[in-house]
Amino acid sequence: MNLDLSPRERELAKLGREFCDKVLLPLEMVVEEHGELPHDRREGVRQAVRDWGLAGINHSKADGGLGLTMLEQTVIEEQLGRTTNGLWTCVWRPPVSLRFGSPEQKRDYLLPSNQGRRRGAFAITEPGSGSDNRAVETRADRRGDKWVLNGEKWFVTSYNTSDFVIVHAHVDGDPDKPTLFLVDSSAPKLRHLRSPKFMHNYAFDHAELRLEGVEVGDERMLGRIGQGFELTKDWFVETRLQIASHTLGAATRAAEIANAHAGSRVQFGKPIRDFQAVEFMLADMAVDIYAAKSMLYRLAAEMDRGLDRKIIHARASALKLFCSEMAGRVVDKALQILGGRGYMRENPVERLYRDVRVDRIWEGTSEIQRVVIGGQLRKRGLDVYTGW
Ligand SMILES: Cc1cc2nc3c(=O)[nH]c(=O)nc-3n(C[C@H](O)[C@H](O)[C@H](O)COP(=O)(O)OP(=O)(O)OC[C@H]3O[C@@H](n4cnc5c(N)ncnc54)[C@H](O)[C@@H]3O)c2cc1C
Repeated sequence: MNLDLSPRERELAKLGREFCDKVLLPLEMVVEEHGELPHDRREGVRQAVRDWGLAGINHSKADGGLGLTMLEQTVIEEQLGRTTNGLWTCVWRPPVSLRFGSPEQKRDYLLPSNQGRRRGAFAITEPGSGSDNRAVETRADRRGDKWVLNGEKWFVTSYNTSDFVIVHAHVDGDPDKPTLFLVDSSAPKLRHLRSPKFMHNYAFDHAELRLEGVEVGDERMLGRIGQGFELTKDWFVETRLQIASHTLGAATRAAEIANAHAGSRVQFGKPIRDFQAVEFMLADMAVDIYAAKSMLYRLAAEMDRGLDRKIIHARASALKLFCSEMAGRVVDKALQILGGRGYMRENPVERLYRDVRVDRIWEGTSEIQRVVIGGQLRKRGLDVYTGW
């Protein structure tokens, strides 16, 4: 068992850290002030992603991406996760489901997405369908040689920096026919309803959309009728690893800030770390991070070694659950150690506190991850998690 990162993995982690420090961190207060990344700053960041060689981080070279292993992506994403206000999303990850597109779809959507010339958002959630994806009401009906899409989508992340949306709809309104469609943002009858404010500030938005008879041809169907969940399953696995990486980066940054503060802040004549109450918080934070990092790197390496897809799915849920909850615990303790300073918006820990809360909600809530894990235990036994 080799537990060392390779020189290349270390190099990529360093690249991610430098990009984060030099390009993203200076934008944190800009987003804090404006509630999003101002439009006139967006092209500059996009160009920086290209210049730093980070475009197409999650796709193969054949599809115009970087061809990185999962562990290589992970060590970069971990560093990006140090940023607040969702700035990590500036390093775009074109949807995994585009890999399963036709050669024309890859040419028109995946390739330009990897190059940063296009960007896609993903729309599955609806007012009546969150955790329960089968309750999706957006439907696709055949009219002549077109598909007609009707429905409402919520929380469509990064819509205002995207020029297409992958819409999850049920053909004929049948939940057994979940299907993905590529819808250009410019499509007539696709209405942007609003982009509400959220607890975190985010570089882009989370939009609400209505499809009011949007027409698309067969060439905009991704995969086949009924393949909607199958194509997004791999995506959910990757986004769960991505969330684990970001929360690890966020927790590590918060812990570093708290650790430094505990050494320099003097009360009652001594550094506050000399109070065991504070030191025990730091100890718990370090252990939490240690466990999360071990889990994350292990699963990423296992994926690179070709671990069975079903086991990957099972473990990705456990990883996402643990890392998102770990970050909540760590950032909360970091804020406590900082006292009133931790509650100030100019303090990164305050922003991290707000930022990591959503990680227990999106890409499957903590409860849904437990449902998945419980199901795996019943189906495959404890060994999926306890075996080595
Ligand atoms: C900032 C943000 C960005 C998002 N971005 C996107 C996006 O880009 N595209 C997209 O499609 N969606 C997006 N989402 C939606 C996100 O995936 C959903 O919010 C999430 O899946 C939960 O759905 P819900 O909010 O409807 O909650 P619900 O499903 O209504 O759940 C409410 C509560 O009930 C619990 N619950 C539900 N079912 C069960 C069960 N079976 N067992 C136990 N407990 C259960 C949940 O865990 C939760 O605590 C985003 C959400 C947010 C907040």
